Formats: sequence, structure tokens, C-alpha cells
Amino acid sequence: MPLLVMKFGGTSVADLDRIGNAAAKVGREVERGYDVIVIVSAMSGKTNELVGWVEGTSPLYDAREYDAVVASGENVTAGLMALRLQEIGIPARSWQGWQVPINTTSAHGAARFVSIPRENIDRKFAEGMKVAVVAGFQGLSHEGRITTLGRGGSDTTAVAFAAAFGAERCDIYTDVDGVYTTDPRICDRARKLHRIAFEEMLELASLGAKVLQTRSVELAMRYNVRLRVLSSFEDTDENSGTLVCGEEEIMESKVVSGVAYSRDEAKITLFTIED
Ligand code: ADP
Ligand code: ASP
Ligand code: MG
Repeated sequence: MPLLVMKFGGTSVADLDRIGNAAAKVGREVERGYDVIVIVSAMSGKTNELVGWVEGTSPLYDAREYDAVVASGENVTAGLMALRLQEIGIPARSWQGWQVPINTTSAHGAARFVSIPRENIDRKFAEGMKVAVVAGFQGLSHEGRITTLGRGGSDTTAVAFAAAFGAERCDIYTDVDGVYTTDPRICDRARKLHRIAFEEMLELASLGAKVLQTRSVELAMRYNVRLRVLSSFEDTDENSGTLVCGEEEIMESKVVSGVAYSRDEAKITLFTIED
């Protein structure tokens, strides 16, 4: 069976209606003949709330327990998405990181992938499961502890699964309908890009355009994953959104593709310091 990875970010699974809407999109791909791996984020605002609870309990928190708490948001959406898919007649099963297992380093809060063995999920596909719903953003260290990948990490989970399972494409469903020349919420003259090269997307992401986590673009470039960003709130087809691809697929590349910004930086200049 051809396989697709579909990732839904926080605003796309913010409540039960939106989970229903995302499940319907997954259902359409199953009807087209795909097996699907769905990667879900926590409901929007949930991860911030969990981080707040950790900091409110222990200002100098133990990073292992931070990860144990903060990873839980994705567990809820994975289970709810699997239930919703079952309700519309699609054989689906949820997977937390440790169940796959998604093996990572033990750098808590910023863990990196070590390996994603396919056996468990492949066996379920062979038994007739059509959709594996995997909790994004989390993994398992070799010490057997839950890890997280850093904020926005579900994008990277999605690309890593697309690479590990040889997916035809990795579709990142979000609250904008593609990658723009700059953040469309800040600048209403921003234009949607039909295609953007990996290198350019990497630059935009690393300079602050949070539409994709930087590491997801790095991974996609390294494993040549076809990566697409598109809206979870609109009807979409094969041509929707923005394709992030190799430069050779873009006929006429521009000198400047976009502008990124970051709100949490300050410039400090010191004058008249003798040495
Ligand atoms: P998700 O919850 O789906 O992961 P994010 O909030 O992480 O979504 O990323 C989507 C947001 O990225 C958009 O709402 C938009 O404000 C922001 N963004 C920043 N730069 C860009 C850009 N160049 N193109 C599109 N969106 C951008
Ligand atoms: N829920 C996590 C976060 O808010 C991961 C993600 O959404 O990608 O950072
Ligand atoms: Mg995100």
C-alpha cells in the first residue's frame, strides 16, 4: 500500500469538532487507497498549560519530569483521533512514543531521534489497520524515560516517520494554507509560495518562521522527504499548499524568497567601555 504521513498541529486538533474535521481528511486519503500515519500535536494551548504547571510546581525542575508532564498533551489527542477515526469506520490505533518505540537521545527537552523501528506498526498494518495515529513531539531514551523534542517538535516527528516508512509525502496540516513570503498574520501583503527549496525553508525556519520546526526541514532535506504545508480548515487537493522540495524542482528561483522575524530577541549596545 502507498503510505502518507499527515500531521495536524495544535489549532487543527483544538477541540472535538476540529479533531472530527481532521479525521475526515484522513478518511478521504484512506478512500484514495493510502495507509496513513497521522502525527498529532497537543490541543492548542495545552503544552503551554503543562509547561506552566511544571514551572509552578518546581522552578528548577528535573528535566525528566518536565518531559513526563509535557509529553502528555499529545497522548490525549492521539487517543481521541483514533477513536474518532473508528467512529467513521476506519480501523485506527493510537501509539505513544514508547509503544512504537521512537528511540531518542536522552537530552530531555531537546532530544534527537536515534531510530524508529517499523516492526510494530507494520505488523498492525498487515493485520488490517489503515491508520496509525502517533503522538508527536515525544520519544523514549535508552534509559527508558519519556523525552520531548523541543517546541514545535511534532513537525520533526512527522518528517522522521515519513523517512522511516518511505512515505509518498509528508503533509503538514496547519492554520495557514501554505508557506508565505512572511508571516501572513503580521503582514497582509505576504504572498503564498507554491514551492520553496529546502535550503530556503531551512533559513526561514531557523530565523523564526515557526510554520515548520527547523529540524523537520533539516531531516526532510537529508532524507529527501516530499514535504507539503497546507490548511486543515479548507478543502485541499494534490495541488494545495506549499511544496518544500529540492532546488532542481523549482524552475525560476528568486534571490530572496521570504522574510522571517523573531519577537524574543533584544539588542544591547554598551558604550565607552575602556577595555
Ligand atoms: P501548528 O500548531 O499547526 O504547528 P504553528 O503555530 O506552529 O502551527 O505554525 C503556523 C504559524 O506559523 C502560522 O499561524 C503563522 O502565524 C506562522 N508563520 C510564521 N511565518 C510564516 C510564514 N512565512 N508562512 C506561513 N506561516 C508563518
Ligand atoms: N505540542 C508541542 C508544542 O506546542 C509540539 C508541537 O505542537 O509541535 O510545542
Ligand atoms: Mg508548529
